[in-house]
Amino acid sequence: MIITGDWVVPVLGPPIRNGAVVVRAPVIEDVGPSEQMRERYPTLPVRAHPGCVIAPGLVNAHTHLALTSVARVVGRAPFPEWLGRVAAVMRALDEDDIAASATHGALMSVRAGVTTVGDIAYGPEVPAAAADMGLDGVFFFEVLGIRADELRRKLDELEYPADTEGCTHGRTVCGLSAHAPYSSGPDLIRAVYQTAQERGVPFVMHLSESDAESALLERGEGPFASLAARLAHGFSAPGCSAVEYVRRLGALRGTVAVHCVKVAETDIATLAYEAAGVVVCPRSNRILGNGAPPVREMRTRGVKLALGTDSLASNDDLDLFAELRELQRLDRTIETTRLLGIATIEGASVLGIEDRVGALTPGRCADVIAVHTGPTDDPVAALIERGSTGSVRTVVSAGVLRVVDGRPTVLARPIENASARVAEKAARALRES
Ligand SMILES: [Zn+2]
Repeated sequence: MIITGDWVVPVLGPPIRNGAVVVRAPVIEDVGPSEQMRERYPTLPVRAHPGCVIAPGLVNAHTHLALTSVARVVGRAPFPEWLGRVAAVMRALDEDDIAASATHGALMSVRAGVTTVGDIAYGPEVPAAAADMGLDGVFFFEVLGIRADELRRKLDELEYPADTEGCTHGRTVCGLSAHAPYSSGPDLIRAVYQTAQERGVPFVMHLSESDAESALLERGEGPFASLAARLAHGFSAPGCSAVEYVRRLGALRGTVAVHCVKVAETDIATLAYEAAGVVVCPRSNRILGNGAPPVREMRTRGVKLALGTDSLASNDDLDLFAELRELQRLDRTIETTRLLGIATIEGASVLGIEDRVGALTPGRCADVIAVHTGPTDDPVAALIERGSTGSVRTVVSAGVLRVVDGRPTVLARPIENASARVAEKAARALRES
């Protein structure tokens, strides 16, 4: 098919007025001026989008799709308490519940124009559910609270692929996560990092998210002390920041660091030098009362940046456009082209999949969105200003239509109903806990 719009924003190249993207599933075949593309491919059907900007599908580099159903149940609370509630409800869910929850989250994501995620997964149901909705990317299988010598058993329990080949299925990569310094001990962090290196997959950690985490690492005290004593086997306060701690463990090189709110100048330099990049989740940080990441400092010091909504349990929605506007508020000097880059190609690069997604160029995966902006002379600014779940008209993922005229191509109601049942189960579990 040929997808046309008032503008095409390829990301790796200047915007094209009256542009078109030629899609032959699963990849992009051509990109250029609409008239020229129609002449070159006269037999292909045309989907026209007057008043729209055509862009690559967005990259939400940090989510927990499996938490979608339980979001409202968990509610809002100070971070350490909130974390305890999330753990309590998740213990009550089985594989089917997790699949239903992830399916709902994936549907919400795709409706908002997201076609790639960096997701924290709790088993193979999550990437499978996401793929059914047209959402792919890196799914980080997460461990916490176990001893390093229990890792193999735990990964088998999560049905984590046994070899490098199994870790990459089509467009899905199975990465690994050691949740955070307060929930995974030093030996476990090293062991998970090592396993990720052996499989050649990305490794992620939640790092420097809260004052509670800083107090634990720097002084061994605060609201996370008892949590760490229970979960982070072998942990003793290193007397430094979380970023420095993970660097000393030898687990920061090439690592995807999520949050990085409480980072000093030296941490920022370390992240720029060693990490794959930082995924900032500004709305989640604000909602959980953790403050704001130093976006401008990280940007100017050369840290590669990606953007994430985090889970629905700590955000209002899974709309990456709204997240982009929050990022813009945090750093007014950032250019709109860089902002869009962070939500597309740069996010993909942090996740290690920039050769496949994040831009509209021939050979890349045909992840294409049409967003209604109305007339504009600055399509990138218009996208950021007016993009939302409500303005996304078309979503194509791997060349397949997933949203048409603003509506998903699957029946949303049964998915929402199944998710609501999971929420009821989670609410019961929380009352009884
Ligand atoms: Zn997270």
